Amino acid sequence: MSRLEEKLRSRFGARFAPSRPLADLTSFRIGGPADLFVDVENEAELQEAMAAAHRENVPVFCLGAGTNLLVSDRGVRGMVVRLGAGFRSIAIEGLHVVSGAAVEFGDLVEAVVERGLEGLEFGEGIPGSVGGGLVMNAGAFGGEIARVVALVHGVTREGAARSLSKDEVGFAYRRTALAQGFIITRVEFDLAQGDRERLRAKVADLHAKRAARQPLGVPNAGSIFKNPPGNFAGRLLEGAGLKGARLGGAAFSPQHANFIVNLGGARAEEVRALIEMARSKVKEQSGVWLEPEVKLVGDW
Ligand SMILES: Cc1cc2nc3c(=O)[nH]c(=O)nc-3n(C[C@H](O)[C@H](O)[C@H](O)COP(=O)(O)OP(=O)(O)OC[C@H]3O[C@@H](n4cnc5c(N)ncnc54)[C@H](O)[C@@H]3O)c2cc1C
Repeated sequence: MSRLEEKLRSRFGARFAPSRPLADLTSFRIGGPADLFVDVENEAELQEAMAAAHRENVPVFCLGAGTNLLVSDRGVRGMVVRLGAGFRSIAIEGLHVVSGAAVEFGDLVEAVVERGLEGLEFGEGIPGSVGGGLVMNAGAFGGEIARVVALVHGVTREGAARSLSKDEVGFAYRRTALAQGFIITRVEFDLAQGDRERLRAKVADLHAKRAARQPLGVPNAGSIFKNPPGNFAGRLLEGAGLKGARLGGAAFSPQHANFIVNLGGARAEEVRALIEMARSKVKEQSGVWLEPEVKLVGDW
């Protein structure tokens, strides 16, 4: 047993698990085990776990709700941290909102819309946590999280608390420039005053649009590729004949070409091979090299 494993086991008890399979913690339902998995309930615990991993020079990965991940069949080396109950509160004061990183993005959208606060409606139907949404600069229907973020709080690789301004986060299209190993604990937003009924109607409209476009009830990780400038990945993939293309248990959705679905028992290697095949075909067909939006995680 490594020193870190010993420390995590004695400190976190049943909230620590060695060789914890990750498939059931991802929306794709794919992925091998994390060497060391720990649930932390508050910031002090997170700091302690991070400092211990840093001392032992063990890499750390923060798992959000697992809705944008393709975890390798071989799993993830090092320590995987998941944020628990102490990171799930929402505080609203006037136009200012503070959300824990483990709050479900959809719950945050609902809470602010019910207060008549405007700026996060685009998030209706984006699964995942607020922390994951921040890291991915999640967006839809012309909106993105970056526009309403005021301040981001987190814990560094070394285990120290740190706050970052919006500029320091380095938001770009579906990514941020956060330092490797920085774990977000809470996010502050500045929203605008809106009209509750109008916001409710907007959210209902986005809900209906999403339901009509996306494959429902079958495991997936949302859009596989980012939209290239001035185009749509789905259109390029469909044009290259990839809709419905299948490898083992994985296939491009017949409903939306930019979604890969797990038809049952798909392996990460199969999804990855489909991704690479699609990139080559689209490049051949249209000259565009697609960039994955889904994060490939772990030991490939
Ligand atoms: C059906 C479906 C529809 C989707 N639609 C959209 C959409 O319209 N728009 C969109 O942008 N995305 C969409 N997604 C993708 C996904 O929901 C978002 O990227 C989401 O924000 C990811 O959040 P998560 O908590 O699941 O993060 P995860 O998938 O768990 O992790 C994503 C990344 O964030 C990091 N991370 C997570 N939490 C933290 C934290 N607290 N601190 C530091 N790092 C952290 C992880 O390490 C990883 O690098 C969709 C996914 C699905 C399955």
